[in-house]
Amino acid sequence: MTVDCAVIQRETPAPERRHRRTEGPVRTCLGCRKRELAVDLLRVVAVSDGNGERTVTVDQTGNLPGRGAWLHPNDRCLEAAIRRRAFGRALRITGSPDTSAVVECVRAQQALHGSPSPAREQVAKNMSTP
Ligand SMILES: [Zn+2]
Repeated sequence: MTVDCAVIQRETPAPERRHRRTEGPVRTCLGCRKRELAVDLLRVVAVSDGNGERTVTVDQTGNLPGRGAWLHPNDRCLEAAIRRRAFGRALRITGSPDTSAVVECVRAQQALHGSPSPAREQVAKNMSTP
């Protein structure tokens, strides 16, 4: 399953947004549990794949319906959220949801920001779908 994450356009040409970091809704990151402006977090939602299975995907437009959760776009928070099964809890999913789409998006975000993390390989291993 390929996810078209390379086209994330969250960095729309609005540099002034960076200077107004006290505005906007605040959400709690699934990984580190810190409160953060929603614009700085990825919104993830659970979608059905049509076979009764639930897949966690990134809500890149902010318009996907359903229960959402929030995550810093970095390996550390992603790995912490996966390890603690925070996705399943936050999104009300029983069992282990497929979070590979989120992993792909986080990597794409990190690539955009040019901050590769040594934890990347480890996350990849942990992310193999059982
Ligand atoms: Zn975090």
